[in-house]
Amino acid sequence: MSNINYQEKFQDRHNGPSASQVEEMLTVLGVSSLEELIEQTVPAQIRKKEPLKLPAALSEVAYLEKVAQIAEKNKVFKSYIGQGYFDVILPGVIQRNVFENPGWYTQYTPYQAEIAQGRLQALLNFQTMVSDLTGLEVANASLLDEATAAAEAMFMLYSTRKNKDAHTFLVTPNIYPQTLDVLQTRAVPFGVEIRVADLTVDNLADDVFAAFVQYPAADGSVADYKEFTAFAHDKNITICVATDLMALALLTPPGEWGADVVVGNSQRFGVPMGFGGPHAAFFATKDAYKRNIPGRIIGVTSDSNGEYALRMALQTREQHIRRDKASSNICTAQALLAIMASFYAVYHGPQGIKNIALRINDLTKLADKAIQALGYKQVNTSYFDTLRFEVDKELSPLKSEALNQELNFYYADNTVGISIDETTTLADIETIVKVFAKIKGKSVNDVDLSAFTNELGNSIPEELERTSDYLTHPVFNSYHSESEMLRYIKSLEAKDLSLCHSMIPLGSCTMKLNATTEMVPVTWARFGGLHPFAPVDQTTGYMQLINELNDWLCEITGFAKMSFQPNSGAQGEYAGLMVIRAYHHSRGDLHRDICLIPASAHGTNPASASMAGLKVVVVKCDERGNIDVEDLRAKATEHAANLNSLMVTYPSTHGVFEEPIVEICNIIHENGGQVYMDGANMNAQVGLTSPGYIGADVCHLNLHKTFCIPHGGGGPGMGPIGVASHLVPFLPNHEVIEISGEEGISAVSAAPFGSASILVISHAYIAMMGGEGLTDATKTAILNANYIKARLESHYPVLYAGANGRCAHEMILDCREFKNVGVEVADIAKRLMDYGFHAPTVSFPVAGTLMVEPTESESKAELDRFCEALIAIRQEIAAVENGEVDQKDNVLKHAPHTARVVTADEWDRPYSRQKAAYPVEYLRVNKFWPSVGRVNDSQGDRTLICSCPPIEAYAEA
Ligand SMILES: *Cc1c(COP(=O)(O)O)cnc(C)c1O
Repeated sequence: MSNINYQEKFQDRHNGPSASQVEEMLTVLGVSSLEELIEQTVPAQIRKKEPLKLPAALSEVAYLEKVAQIAEKNKVFKSYIGQGYFDVILPGVIQRNVFENPGWYTQYTPYQAEIAQGRLQALLNFQTMVSDLTGLEVANASLLDEATAAAEAMFMLYSTRKNKDAHTFLVTPNIYPQTLDVLQTRAVPFGVEIRVADLTVDNLADDVFAAFVQYPAADGSVADYKEFTAFAHDKNITICVATDLMALALLTPPGEWGADVVVGNSQRFGVPMGFGGPHAAFFATKDAYKRNIPGRIIGVTSDSNGEYALRMALQTREQHIRRDKASSNICTAQALLAIMASFYAVYHGPQGIKNIALRINDLTKLADKAIQALGYKQVNTSYFDTLRFEVDKELSPLKSEALNQELNFYYADNTVGISIDETTTLADIETIVKVFAKIKGKSVNDVDLSAFTNELGNSIPEELERTSDYLTHPVFNSYHSESEMLRYIKSLEAKDLSLCHSMIPLGSCTMKLNATTEMVPVTWARFGGLHPFAPVDQTTGYMQLINELNDWLCEITGFAKMSFQPNSGAQGEYAGLMVIRAYHHSRGDLHRDICLIPASAHGTNPASASMAGLKVVVVKCDERGNIDVEDLRAKATEHAANLNSLMVTYPSTHGVFEEPIVEICNIIHENGGQVYMDGANMNAQVGLTSPGYIGADVCHLNLHKTFCIPHGGGGPGMGPIGVASHLVPFLPNHEVIEISGEEGISAVSAAPFGSASILVISHAYIAMMGGEGLTDATKTAILNANYIKARLESHYPVLYAGANGRCAHEMILDCREFKNVGVEVADIAKRLMDYGFHAPTVSFPVAGTLMVEPTESESKAELDRFCEALIAIRQEIAAVENGEVDQKDNVLKHAPHTARVVTADEWDRPYSRQKAAYPVEYLRVNKFWPSVGRVNDSQGDRTLICSCPPIEAYAEA
């Protein structure tokens, strides 16, 4: 036999255990084959008979060739479209060392602060940057996009409004259409009326609770809202402003003229357009609202050694705890992109940012003068970067000439809009002027650009010129050479544990391999450089990618169609529930508003349900953690007349394939409801069963869990939804790019296909795994989980298992009994850091437990190291139980141990330094040092500090 046809399989790289390791693990489990284990685990009733019908798996090399051909079909024209998306120069040092660096993109959300100080600092820098530029006191660590940030602001101002009888949100007509679209979607379930009307004092009627200003406006004009705001405040009406951080380098920040909330997109700070995303939206507000801010906030506190430390503030207020009383369902946001934007500000500093803004403004003024000299009328008297030229019969020849020159302008209402960005050069302005000249039958020689350059004048009225400083903190004034910047990025990265170091066994979060080949195309210009509203004939590569992914995910989920608009799992939940709502309404069932949710559900489920205007009725779980079917039947029957839906996670958040899932779906359908499946646990289903096969009607997929999009330290993500055929007509549409029919609900996100550029990651994964590879991955995930269960169950009680004693792809380790001797689950989580591991999910879905999900990507060797660590920790707990060591003064309570503590001249602990830092053998060759001691959460929540404290504060701490 020849080896000519030998080909390496990607699947063998993606799955951790080798064939011989699989055999060893099966022996430990006492089964003779993987198939036998799966038969014991997945109920026969839901086991799909047919294998997945997907194209044959491609090698990594073959995939890169295929995707390069797809990319070729995208045309990257110069974009002057604006509308909230601008071309950027991403500094190479940030591209290579952050965007393309697994040390940054494979990190988890920074719940374990002691091994996350790097990204916490970068996110604090982001908050500082946003609050400086907007002129407001506090900012959060990112939201999903500008439009949803505006909707979050609307809701916050609505729920905190002074006049409880006011239900109208007054919105300027001069707003981005996608923002208005999303505001409308989100307003409906709350009974908020959106009134689009000019922002005049007369329109501040008594029924208005807040007004929405865009500054600069959608058409690029800049107006002064100082008096309007003061008048509104007199009437207890608040003001929300959507803005552009780059413009605020030159314009008076909204915070200085009284805005209550300021939102926008930080994309312009070095993040490629990516056909709509991902980018980090921001949300800044007054101090008075700091406890109402949606999303995550990073705050300053100190650690157990009294030193400066950061952590996510107000975690107990998060949606996980508030559930149906939550004011927002934001979970995954846009951490990685916020980090990139913050580094852009760190690298350029205040003067660099100002220079970029001034240059953009000067080039805009130059284009204005030159084109006006050709006899065109420009409408905006005050502007930063956007011009509007009135045209009528010239519109169509102008458009075709622009396309000839590969330029995209913005066309609306007989005007041509041109938005200038930091990539625009003098030569680009000449090209633009040429296009306008040609239509008037002139040549560019008829206008002398150099004649204008010395008399550009002002396009920003004096009273709106920014006079205040920004980015004054040393962090924005220290790293302007590339060497300094590189070392700053690396110094932060070194503080963070990521998948580069060890497995991150986070139950429900599926921290699997994010393969390099999957990531490579993301930063190609032919994916990154496209504006989401580019003409459709320029985006055929993207359409092919999206259509293929649609077909593959439909095959995997058993559904008829996907919508790629939702840009997080929670956003998918909301979108799915709104689709169900539209379906009920189409049948005249306007009253169906009861949503059944099991007690074990993820907090975003009830939060999304309440945002969709539903009333949550909780279904009990039995003592084995399963849905109590009789309770479900009783509640479904009781509410049959008004039953809207059931939200169910499968396998359950307890890590079990519940046997009666088909019966559960039937009960809901018989009572007129729809079944919403939370697809966060899809990693245990792919190829073996599917939501459609089981009988669900809608499901979201967390592409950033099951389908390999990296977690990015808390985002980006993608939460597309799949639906059965009867729901297809109601999938979300989009105001600018039509993607659904007449019955489609209005937009749920700013861009038609959400964070489109990262779809290539999931596309790559499926293409390289193929149907068999994906199914093997699922089986391996189940094998790895059951192997850990088998190794640990004599040390820690494992809560819940299926009928044959098997878990699905994750399991819950019960740590509650250790409380009797003062050992909390948090002590175990922190002690794991000393062993080089990130803790599993803590206290979800059951308080006092750890939920472990190894995924298929971890090898047996890594699983063994992890088990060894947990077993060693169990012995440390036993020492407390036996009374060998003090309950308060022991190695668990003092964990984690920093290098500084362990190497200090003084050592008064009742255990050795060796025990503190090197408790097991494998650490000798691979030790990760937590950079701070245990952080003090309550101190940080009492005094909330959400921006970089002055340098002196570090010295004091
Ligand atoms: C992760 C998760 C979600 C939320 O997804 P995001 O992308 O973070 O919004 C919802 N449900 C479950 C069970 C999850 O694990």
